[in-house]
Amino acid sequence: LYNQLQDLKGNIRVYCRVRPSTSGQTNHHCPINNIDGGSMSLIIPSKNGKDGKKTFNFNKVFGPSSTQGEVFSDTQPLIRSVLDGYNVCIFAYGQTGSGKTHTMSGPDNYTEETVGVNYRALRDLFFLSEQRKDIIHYDISVQMLEIYNEQVRDLLTTDKIRNSSHNGINVPDANLVPVSSTSDVLNLMNLGQKNRAVSATAMNDRSSRSHSCLTVHVQGRELASGNSLRGCIHLVDLAGSERVDKSEVTGDRLKEAQHINKSLSALGDVIASLAQKQSHVPYRNSKLTQLLQDSLGGQAKTLMFVHVSPDAEAIGETISTLKFAERVSTV
Ligand code: ADP
Ligand code: MG
Repeated sequence: LYNQLQDLKGNIRVYCRVRPSTSGQTNHHCPINNIDGGSMSLIIPSKNGKDGKKTFNFNKVFGPSSTQGEVFSDTQPLIRSVLDGYNVCIFAYGQTGSGKTHTMSGPDNYTEETVGVNYRALRDLFFLSEQRKDIIHYDISVQMLEIYNEQVRDLLTTDKIRNSSHNGINVPDANLVPVSSTSDVLNLMNLGQKNRAVSATAMNDRSSRSHSCLTVHVQGRELASGNSLRGCIHLVDLAGSERVDKSEVTGDRLKEAQHINKSLSALGDVIASLAQKQSHVPYRNSKLTQLLQDSLGGQAKTLMFVHVSPDAEAIGETISTLKFAERVSTV
């Protein structure tokens, strides 16, 4: 029934999340307003003083006061479908500082209340697999990858982690670590974060300029029939989508910016072509879309969280983020 309901809504969903203001501005200056269900409007300033107003429609819009729990509750049916054998991708898109990591991981000092989608998704997977244990036995394992400058890196490598005999479908060399509890997963996420941080010494905050992907593979075996099924979920915290002024950066910084730009547009092209049901889907234009090819399109389900800031200074990036979101949306 869950999947029937999901199918009625389509396989691509776009949610917009508006973070709280950083500057403590009053509503009067806020360019985003009328958040209601799936729609919101944006005041677009113009030089002649006659500001424009544009309404955007998505599957859902979460305002600045939405809680992590509220954001996750709309995501929950997708988690359930992973255990039914579906492949799912959840992306966090937006400029640096817009709240992508907050949505996916939660704040640095997260609590039970503020922890993000990644942990909640895994907690649900364990909970539901336990509920079904008399009917299906599930094996759950986790991979964590980073894509930086179109190169894929395994974030789960240390001697402490044993290599798994059955490897991931998409990245044959990456560690696939069996997990049986949420604390196993928290330990792995911490390790992945540490491995990411190690590489950040040369250029600070590399995390905003690389994509990170937590993949959970689920393998189920029906006890009565012996039939098996596979599903997976990719939880992707994308690199910051902000446009970099080419006249201001050079060298490594420019190269990074070009790689990010290229891979985010490739992702946009893939989802837009799926949303428009085009026959050709351009998976091959970036590492990210190649990596996720099996989980984008077909029976797979995609959820894109686009993040925007309500601050007036962010208006340029907010417009380009909402245009991206509109293009990949099916509403
Ligand atoms: P990004 O990953 O997109 O660069 P972050 O998630 O790191 O952005 O957010 C920047 C800062 O704003 C962090 O300190 C984060 O905890 C905070 N923040 C972002 N979104 C929210 C939110 N919805 N509620 C409270 N704090 C938020
Ligand atoms: Mg981040």
